[in-house]
Amino acid sequence: MAALTITSMTVRTLRLPVRSARSQGVGTVADGVTNVFVELTTDAGITGWGEAAPWAVFTGTAEAAVGALHVHFRPFVVGADAFRIEEIMGRARQAVVHSPEAKAALEMALYDIVGRAIGAPLHVLLGGKLRDTVPLSISIANPDFEKDLEALPALLADGLRLFKVKTGFSTHAADLARLERLREVMPDEVDLRVDFNQGLDCWDALPKLRDVEAFAPTFIEQPVPADKMEVMADLAAALDTPLMADESVFDPTDALRAVGLRAADLFSVKIHKSGGMGPARAIAAIAEAAGIACYGGSMFETGLSCMAGAQMIAATRNISLGCEFYQPTYYLAEDVLAAPFPVANGEIVIPDGPGLGVEVDPDRIAKYETARWD
Ligand code: MG
Repeated sequence: MAALTITSMTVRTLRLPVRSARSQGVGTVADGVTNVFVELTTDAGITGWGEAAPWAVFTGTAEAAVGALHVHFRPFVVGADAFRIEEIMGRARQAVVHSPEAKAALEMALYDIVGRAIGAPLHVLLGGKLRDTVPLSISIANPDFEKDLEALPALLADGLRLFKVKTGFSTHAADLARLERLREVMPDEVDLRVDFNQGLDCWDALPKLRDVEAFAPTFIEQPVPADKMEVMADLAAALDTPLMADESVFDPTDALRAVGLRAADLFSVKIHKSGGMGPARAIAAIAEAAGIACYGGSMFETGLSCMAGAQMIAATRNISLGCEFYQPTYYLAEDVLAAPFPVANGEIVIPDGPGLGVEVDPDRIAKYETARWD
């Protein structure tokens, strides 16, 4: 196959306003997020887009993602053959030790180009979809809980049945009161999950989690700090409710350690933690071998990145617990996609168009652009 040479690379930061504040154990997003977009073009005139969704308290900073893409990746990306994705991503991993969001953005743009070049959707490039739709989870995370309650009827009417309650950013009593209220107002079939985002201290996490178990969550996510894997293992052994590791498992090495310690029953897999779909699927494979199921997590992403993640989930057997990719329509004031993010009956509908299967709207990109590097 003839080479598909990358001839230009544009890196942009976009400041994306959110509809409402969102709190979680590790911090609050109050007014907006800064995401980093990469646009690659080839000698055949094909364009591919990728998005990095950094959060300074979780994965890294937007400034670091810009630096990785513009300064460190550009020299070997421009001039490279886009068909050689693994080789390019290997160079990216060698060039920069962290900045997983920048690596995810680069990989996403490369798959977008290759898919468009050969007329294949991303899920086919990953082995083909096992699921035509992926169930969505909504996070209950507004610091003003009444606002979340007001939004519930419309979400239930849209078919949403998975809800993740963000806990650990206020008092334990307030968390229990929110859970009690949600169980009162939600239909019985609603699947409630709880995510502490590292918000509990280790020493009294167990009694607090036993209180939470009374509300029958499907799983409890990351109650204690990321580096406290041994404590996670003790909690996983003591609780009846499955324990999920999110911040404790960024990459395949973390996953192997978590398996060895039995630190969790479930893993949250996110392309912006692990540096792309390749390492994310390696985590899912390690988990599968250990009997651990995975959930598709997200950062504050537009529809572009959410669709990359959704296509990966559709094509990865062991990411079987749904996903939380509702940001573009529910949390962001406006998405950057030309068409609405495809959701029906509470599930993402996986598209069959080439590449990522979605198109960015250049006017929206321009509207929210704060800086660019060509
Ligand atoms: Mg989480």
